[in-house]
Amino acid sequence: MAEQVGDKAAGLEALRRQVEQCHRCGLRDQAHGVVFGEGDPVARIVFVGEGPGQEEDRLLRPFVGRAGQLLDKMLAAGGLDRFHGVYIVNVVKCRPPNNRTPTLDERKACWPNLSAQLRILSPNIVVLLGATAVRTLLGISRVSQARGQWYERGGVWFRATFHPAALLRNPSWKAGAWEDLQAVIAKSQELGAGGAQRQGT
Ligand code: SF4
Repeated sequence: MAEQVGDKAAGLEALRRQVEQCHRCGLRDQAHGVVFGEGDPVARIVFVGEGPGQEEDRLLRPFVGRAGQLLDKMLAAGGLDRFHGVYIVNVVKCRPPNNRTPTLDERKACWPNLSAQLRILSPNIVVLLGATAVRTLLGISRVSQARGQWYERGGVWFRATFHPAALLRNPSWKAGAWEDLQAVIAKSQELGAGGAQRQGT
């Protein structure tokens, strides 16, 4: 196990250094830097968002603004946290100007980065936060179409839910998002995703 942690951590660090040099699309020119992602190198659950916002771009960390704080609260309510059993990434690693939705070309340009992250992490479960992640990883255009069921791709289980920023705009969706997270936790237990939940919670 210790060897696996070391291997994955080293693999992610090497990839981080590589992605930090990426200029495959124009987003990099306007961003402060690359927001690679963060979490537990041996995470069994990976959360995929859209792209960095202003605060994320400033701190070069994923989900640290208001939406990120809501995500952290939801994870904590489910006995999870971003550094234990969980890893958080985005579809594009550089901030789109004014938080616009990344274009198809930008998503395609950044796909090798996300794909390499998922290959190293090799999670049991990938949680898709919002339409951009759902489109990119499932090819389904709307979150509402994709929610409420599991999609298995190559031995990995995908689940769609709302982006936390959408929950801030539409608080009535929070109950649905909580149901989605509970389904993820139940699935991780069913799959024996050891370490997905904090001890004693
Ligand atoms: S968004 Fe992705 S593809 Fe575009 S420059 Fe940043 S890291 Fe590279």
